[in-house]
Amino acid sequence: MTTAAPSPSSLQALFEPLGDAAYDGRRCTALADTIAEITALKRTRNAVVLAHNYQRPEIFQVADFVGDSLELARQATRVEAETIVFCGVHFMAETAKILNPTRRVILPDLRAGCSLADSVTAEALAEKKEELRAIYPDLAVVGYVNTTADVKAECDACCTSSNAVRVVEALPSEHILFVPDKNLAAYVQSQTRKSIIAWDGNCYVHHQITPEQIQAVRRALPQVRVLAHPECRADVLALADAVLSTSGMVKYAKESAEHEFLIVTECGLSDRLLLEVPEKKFYKSCKLCQYMKMITLEGTRDALRDLRPEIILPEDVRRRAAAALERMLELGG
Ligand code: SF4
Repeated sequence: MTTAAPSPSSLQALFEPLGDAAYDGRRCTALADTIAEITALKRTRNAVVLAHNYQRPEIFQVADFVGDSLELARQATRVEAETIVFCGVHFMAETAKILNPTRRVILPDLRAGCSLADSVTAEALAEKKEELRAIYPDLAVVGYVNTTADVKAECDACCTSSNAVRVVEALPSEHILFVPDKNLAAYVQSQTRKSIIAWDGNCYVHHQITPEQIQAVRRALPQVRVLAHPECRADVLALADAVLSTSGMVKYAKESAEHEFLIVTECGLSDRLLLEVPEKKFYKSCKLCQYMKMITLEGTRDALRDLRPEIILPEDVRRRAAAALERMLELGG
């Protein structure tokens, strides 16, 4: 994907809280050199770069595809290049490997984890399933894609924030154990008559956003449209004009006749919107995911050069996790 150069103010806002180098002339020259190295390495390594919407702005400059979890999962199944360099977090790179096992999948920094994925283990889920199936024999387990491959292997179907309601509705079961995000589970419950049993996990980035913060922006900017991600708390979602996945926010912002938006999700998405829709105004919630920002341009170059760290999965886990992901693609559209 090719985009315009990021504006210095947007980059400054992103990097200052992380303590990274400022985007002065020297830094920008270094970035341009690294972007050129990555472009050349992609050709010699027969590689593509997939990047999540929450990545640093300069990562968007080297990405062949930018999107949310569902878009990236779909894109991973279509990759013909030998190597996928995944600029996102660990569970996303695992998902790319699960769906496209013949490709080499590289994650530039193995520390790029996820507080939400860490909130459930395969062992704890297997135990809970057994306990609940004794009470609800029809119980189905729906796992958000923000889970490890081991956890996906325990699920009947996966879902993303954009298709969670469709997946739940399409399953034949009336009782659904939804893991691991309790906020997304509550949102799904508000959209279905089925009985949702929520796991007690959350994304620390979205969970820290409060209704008071939204109200303060609304008071200052009464004309602003508030777009919120369903990983936010229910009292925050109640104040939103629309509850959308990140790709849903991009589509809404591009197609809407409105011109000013408060983007209530991780800040990287606002940076993507500032680059792609320069004629509109986007206000950020100023929440950064420390895991997403562990992926750097320099780390991406090194990973492409050395072809590591590589994601490797045991085949039985991969196969069972693939079945849950394929069920999602079949049910969730
Ligand atoms: S934003 Fe939240 S859900 Fe996404 S990777 Fe970061 S911690 Fe995980």
